[in-house]
Amino acid sequence: MFTLRQYREAVPGPAFPADAVALTIDDGPHPVWTPKILRLLERHHVPATFFMIGNQVLGHEATARDVVRDGHQVANHTWSHPTAFARKSRTRVHREIERAHDKIYSTTTHTPALFRSPGGDWSPAVLGAAAEAGMVPLDWTNDPRDWARPGTAAIRRRLLAARPGHILLCHDGGGDRSQTYAALKTVVPALAARGYRFVALNGRN
Ligand SMILES: [Zn+2]
Repeated sequence: MFTLRQYREAVPGPAFPADAVALTIDDGPHPVWTPKILRLLERHHVPATFFMIGNQVLGHEATARDVVRDGHQVANHTWSHPTAFARKSRTRVHREIERAHDKIYSTTTHTPALFRSPGGDWSPAVLGAAAEAGMVPLDWTNDPRDWARPGTAAIRRRLLAARPGHILLCHDGGGDRSQTYAALKTVVPALAARGYRFVALNGRN
């Protein structure tokens, strides 16, 4: 699922406002960047969904709990973010998903309802394992490729191409996210000024 419309077709709930966009933040939690992004989101009253990597929750439990404390949604992004996830064995796929699920739940007491495969790499086995764990698979519409550190201006420009109904992708983990943070600092208020409404995927808008 790549858009809010597709998400709402799969997950019943109140219709999103026509000017809705959703922000998703992957690969954390990170002890430096997650708290900075949390403060930024709080300043603008913007909800987000954090796709967490289990082995990043490990050792950063307090940060993971801060995400939930601030009212954001936590979601499953595997235990160790393997590359070519769709080509992994069924056993490995299950283990990656279940281990992350258990760690996120035991840390935050929230059960992830969404799953995102690393790199958006899906297979029938990956989709099946996510469904078995009670999760809906989610992709994104707008990918600024911030993980590659293309420069703050490039990230900002790509995010500002967002349109109503888009699911935006950013990263708080996986390395130095100073460009992502700097871009979000201006993009979040700019999209809000455009009249876009950031919505939570779990319905607590
Ligand atoms: Zn990722």
